[in-house]
Amino acid sequence: MSKELVKKFMEIRVENVIRLKEMKEKGGKIVGYYCTFFPQELALAAGAVPVGLCGTKEEPIAAAEETLPRNLCALIKSSYGFAVTDKCPFFNFSDLIVGETTCDGKKKMFEFMGEFKPVHVMQLPYMKESKAALDLWVEELRRLRSRLESELDVTISDEAIWQAIDVINRESVAAKALCDLNQQEPPALSGMDLLTVIWSRGFNIDKEEIIEMLNELRENLGSGGDVAAGQPRVLITGCPIGLGSEKVVQLVEDVGGTVVALENCTGYKILPLQTDTSFDDPVVALAHKYLQIPCSCMTPNTGRIKLLTSMAADFKADVIIDLTWQACHTYNMESREIAKLAKRIGLPFLQLETDYSASDMENLKVRIEAILEMVEK
Ligand code: SF4
Ligand code: SF4
Repeated sequence: MSKELVKKFMEIRVENVIRLKEMKEKGGKIVGYYCTFFPQELALAAGAVPVGLCGTKEEPIAAAEETLPRNLCALIKSSYGFAVTDKCPFFNFSDLIVGETTCDGKKKMFEFMGEFKPVHVMQLPYMKESKAALDLWVEELRRLRSRLESELDVTISDEAIWQAIDVINRESVAAKALCDLNQQEPPALSGMDLLTVIWSRGFNIDKEEIIEMLNELRENLGSGGDVAAGQPRVLITGCPIGLGSEKVVQLVEDVGGTVVALENCTGYKILPLQTDTSFDDPVVALAHKYLQIPCSCMTPNTGRIKLLTSMAADFKADVIIDLTWQACHTYNMESREIAKLAKRIGLPFLQLETDYSASDMENLKVRIEAILEMVEK
């Protein structure tokens, strides 16, 4: 039964292209975004559907390289390639694209995208502990609220934002509870199924429906899934991963390990964060939440170390693998801190620097096999 339910998640992306098309034809509005820092709540409060657009496939990269420098990370090139070739229906349907000043490649990509699509870029402060950072981020969320209102021709009430906050808080709780089932031995879901579920859920246009699907799968898996016991338990961290760029997750499981958790922002990173509803102003409440995301573009990014430390213990990790997409400087440099953490807590550690192509599969496989052999089971 749980396999059937996972299959339903696998079908979300294709099914929701049709639903979005029908919605568009009836005048519905869509907001496309590329990063976890985008507060989906504001799009929902505007009556629009937020859709994640991060490119996770190699296919459009060659087209992107006609414009972009080749030595950019695969995620940026794939995202831009899908946009410029008009091959992503989610991008095509979007009324507005929202980006943030996260890494250098991404923020310059948004300038290029602005040549053929309405784009709004939020200025993300990097030193989140300062008062100035919070003030700036609050103002940036207010500026986004105004842009959504003018672009989509709506008024966003505080009440609508609080309602959207409630929905996203519940969705995060449901997704986290499902991921947390993998703390057991054997884990409830294989890494590939976990990735399929957590990544695909973002394409569902109906948040209440996806909460129900997540809860149904969790209840179904309550008594255990079909993952074999005794396999080395791998915690993956680093750059975002989605279906199409899952090669490291797949390789771990091909050589006898099991990915019990993905700390990446397309996985667990944001799930423990809840918007605090005790604030008077919902925009201030959202600013506090989103500024806590432990992404490597923050400095210092101590939140990632803290999160990984608790995840390694909670998910009983035997190994940490840090995935860096080539040319992602922030994650690449931060890998040194992850290596130190792994040493401190006594876990074997492996950093893999790669791209979306299959050209280095054999090499990756050998390195993953070697690190899993260090685990005594
Ligand atoms: S890794 Fe950081 S910059 Fe990249 S999508 Fe995630 S939160 Fe955004
Ligand atoms: S993986 Fe790194 S370089 Fe690529 S978009 Fe994310 S933060 Fe930027």
